[in-house]
Amino acid sequence: EKLERLQKFLAEAGVASRRRAEELIAQGKVKVNGKVVTEMGLKIDPEKDEVSYLDRKISKKDTKLVYLMLHKPVGYVTTAKEQFGRPAVVDLIKGVNARIFPVGRLDYDTSGLLLLTNDGDLTYKLTHPKHDVEKTYIAKLYGVPDEGALQKFRRGVVIDGRKTKPAKIQILEREKDGRFCTAEIVIHEGRNRQVRKMCESIKHPVAQLQRVATGELTLGDLPKGKYRHLTEKEIRYLK
Ligand code: URA
Repeated sequence: EKLERLQKFLAEAGVASRRRAEELIAQGKVKVNGKVVTEMGLKIDPEKDEVSYLDRKISKKDTKLVYLMLHKPVGYVTTAKEQFGRPAVVDLIKGVNARIFPVGRLDYDTSGLLLLTNDGDLTYKLTHPKHDVEKTYIAKLYGVPDEGALQKFRRGVVIDGRKTKPAKIQILEREKDGRFCTAEIVIHEGRNRQVRKMCESIKHPVAQLQRVATGELTLGDLPKGKYRHLTEKEIRYLK
């Protein structure tokens, strides 16, 4: 018999990401063999123990793993449902018969590449700070940063009291009047509103932001608001 941590089991069964599964356990929403379990790290036998979430039996066998790429439009939140009733990205996924959730976050006012899956283990891996997958953004910035500002950005800047890891920034295009420019930015971390805060710190705030790549996966010509299934090759690459 092979024992497995309860939160890992829930993640692999597509209930939620591993971190979120821990919250569900703490909230008393998970039962093992008919008893609520709030203890963290309990090991279960997936073959013998009966696990339920909100009194629905969870089985790993009939879980099909789904991997999607969405072109998130501006004006959607990546959280499931939120207090202000703003539209959620999951509402854009029609005809997928699985409870999927976004891998990491994109701001309400950011567009671009967003992965969604019911594979909690992959979500855990890709959002873990040590996993540093490159994320590439195209940003429209106010003004045009000079060489000094670019160097500062590249070395890392202090946001929320902590320095960011080295990042890449390259100016692709500048408007004739110099009021805006377009920059390609690559970061490894995924801190809250990181690109926006980094650009603010060099005094060239973001006017528009789009994520165009996560590692080797690129948005390509996927239309805004549309999604597609990842290819076998893309899934293998992420794992
Ligand atoms: N950085 C940001 O500031 N916002 C995002 O949505 C993603 C990265």
